[in-house]
Amino acid sequence: GGRPQTSKPGIPGIDRIVAVASGKGGVGKSTTAVNLALGLRDLGLKVGILDADIYGPSIPRLLALKDKPQSAGGRMIKSLDAYGLKAMSIGLLVEEETAMIWRGPMVVSALTQMMREVEWGPLDILVVDMPPGTGDAQLTMAQQVPLAGSVIVSTPQDLSLIDARRGIAMFRKVDVPVLGIVENMSYFIAPDTGARYDIFGHGGAEAEARRLSVPFLGAVPLDMNIRVRSDEGVPIVQAEPDGPHAEIYRDMAARTL
Ligand code: ADP
Repeated sequence: GGRPQTSKPGIPGIDRIVAVASGKGGVGKSTTAVNLALGLRDLGLKVGILDADIYGPSIPRLLALKDKPQSAGGRMIKSLDAYGLKAMSIGLLVEEETAMIWRGPMVVSALTQMMREVEWGPLDILVVDMPPGTGDAQLTMAQQVPLAGSVIVSTPQDLSLIDARRGIAMFRKVDVPVLGIVENMSYFIAPDTGARYDIFGHGGAEAEARRLSVPFLGAVPLDMNIRVRSDEGVPIVQAEPDGPHAEIYRDMAARTL
């Protein structure tokens, strides 16, 4: 596992901050972030999830957050509860059109504010759903937020992998340990026949992880239930704790520690 960077002040009460990142949008970064957080919860940890995806905050939908954030007195706001996770989303605090045009430094100040001025309670780990990409906002974040490590999500496809490679290079440049790569939409099992299809190819991320000497954290299939459960606001690890997907995410969680 990684350790906090000594050059950046940590956040009191939060042991480790782990960023879930991707080189581009639509690869399943947010889906991975919530299910990874629930997997960590299942391992007995106190877990928070912070939605920092300024370009499309989706945690409120994924966790069916209905309550408006409440003041906790002074500058502090209360975190929300979802399935035993503490949660907060930039989407609940700032108009999306406003956040989208922010440059890196503004993203970082909003983010550190959400870390410091949300009452998280003591957390073993805060999972941060990063904005996709490797631009100025992401780089500044990786540089200035005291990250213990990063998890990179990619599909097996070449294009997505090239973007993931950029993400890894970015975190390495700022000395944030890359905890590993997740291959999402890795394969598809037809529910009627059980036949397996490698829709986006398969194993690309695992091969890439080996090539770059970063851990491979797991392969998640393309599965309609994962999408349906997400849309319902009950992520698959919560909805089907004894199913095969929950096990994949719990294994993934264990590998990040
Ligand atoms: P990102 O955060 O990278 O933009 P999302 O997590 O929002 O991606 O996922 C994009 C879409 O793909 C969502 O509709 C989500 O439910 C779906 N999705 C993500 N991962 C899977 C998967 N393994 N199987 C099926 N659908 C998935």
